Amino acid sequence: MAIDSRRIESIVAEVLERLGTETPPGRGAGTAPLGVHADLDQAVAAARSAFAAYDQTPLATRQAIIASIRETLAAQYRTLAELAVEETGLGRVEDKILKNQLVTERTPGTEDLEPIAWTGDHGFTLAERAPYGPIAVITPVTNPSETIINNAISMIAGGNTVVLCPHPNARKISNLTVDLMNRAARRAGAPQPLVHSIDQPTIDVAKALLHYKGIRLNVVTGGPGVVKEALAAGKKAITAGPGNPPSVVDETADLEKAGRDLVMGASLDNNIICTDEKEIIAVALIVDRLKEALAKGGAVVLPPHHTDALRRLVLEKENGPRKHAVINRKFVGKNADVILKEAGIPCDPSKRLAVCEVDQDHPFLWTEMMMPVLPLTKVRNVDEGIDLALEVEHGFRHTASMHSRNIEKLSKMARLCDCSIFVKNGPNAAGLGWGGEGPTSFTIASPSGEGMTTARSFTRFRRCTLVDAFRIV
Ligand code: NAD
Repeated sequence: MAIDSRRIESIVAEVLERLGTETPPGRGAGTAPLGVHADLDQAVAAARSAFAAYDQTPLATRQAIIASIRETLAAQYRTLAELAVEETGLGRVEDKILKNQLVTERTPGTEDLEPIAWTGDHGFTLAERAPYGPIAVITPVTNPSETIINNAISMIAGGNTVVLCPHPNARKISNLTVDLMNRAARRAGAPQPLVHSIDQPTIDVAKALLHYKGIRLNVVTGGPGVVKEALAAGKKAITAGPGNPPSVVDETADLEKAGRDLVMGASLDNNIICTDEKEIIAVALIVDRLKEALAKGGAVVLPPHHTDALRRLVLEKENGPRKHAVINRKFVGKNADVILKEAGIPCDPSKRLAVCEVDQDHPFLWTEMMMPVLPLTKVRNVDEGIDLALEVEHGFRHTASMHSRNIEKLSKMARLCDCSIFVKNGPNAAGLGWGGEGPTSFTIASPSGEGMTTARSFTRFRRCTLVDAFRIV
């Protein structure tokens, strides 16, 4: 879909107008986005001033702010989803609605900040989670509003404020999200806007933010470049980097269910979510039956000559067998039928996913393609499958999954893959709390080790000891 700036501007204006009644005097007719600044120095200064005021705010106000943010965003899922698709050209509106709902409802608030108490002969010690202050945040184009909602709720719950540099190609959707959250927070008693962003984000601004003097914590979500830059800044960094999640299917799996789960998981938002299944590794004995189940689940399973045509279309440069290829970004996050049609392959628009059977050296297996084109390769047995899965995951330790009824092999792969998320017998989305238990996160910090980040990830432990007193027994 072509980017239509006028349409984006009109959606933004419409949403702001609806909410504009609480705009403070001097801010125009409600259309000046709240917390969006012309330059980085202004954004950091505002986040610092907001932190000084927010730090004096009672916990009950923090909780009311988060409740108000959830309520405000709940009324805007469709607007956020449509605007993101329109501005970035990535993904599917109906899936983005669910993603926005997931982060709004399932990102934990202050309840995540459990204190710890120790008592004994020498009295009482209490450890509590304290904020860092303003946190520097960089967000991706693939989940623009979702990452901001998820990060900001968690960081605000932890008592912090936020300075954000969003992806330049998601500037408008990101800054609309910032505006909506700040307005909601103000309605619930926030002394100042808590999330501060840049009107014209660029990679240079992102770099300057990561190196900004006096900001103690960097939190980045994106590919290898931003992770490297955050680590080079010489301060604490929570880094959520790339993945290439393999899914192993063995001969004991419920194949009908595996087929359904794989189509649902791998096609979510056209495969741009970092946790989406990026390749299937199946035991040879069941490959044909699995392909039937995938087709029944809504995928189109391509013959070899179509796979070759697709390879020529979506890869810009190959780097040899078992190597990450360079993808043609034009096809990232597009619908399966759109990609296939461009390769000259007719496809019903109702099909959400194209599955290609490939050999083990094929670049589709080794490349994070972020499009609804899922390679499937066969192995002689499940142990060979687990070994190959570890290799194609490239040691990111991000996400992996397995469909099997063999407890021993499920445990073996769970342990060996050493990932932040491992899903057994479900779509990978279940590991995000989407049809699975537990809280959600859209910043899965594998390189720095926090895994699914929540409020507690953005806090420092502080401890206070009262000597020889305060026991009640
Ligand atoms: P990207 O790396 O191109 O951009 C991410 C952000 O980093 C953007 O805001 C961009 O402006 C900034 N950036 C990029 N290079 C930078 C540099 N050298 N210095 C400073 N800032 C820089 O990624 P993307 O296309 O927006 O998102 C997709 C990638 O992010 C995929 O690799 C995906 O796996 C990963 N991702 C990971 C997670 C996770 O939780 N681990 C979540 C979402 C996306």
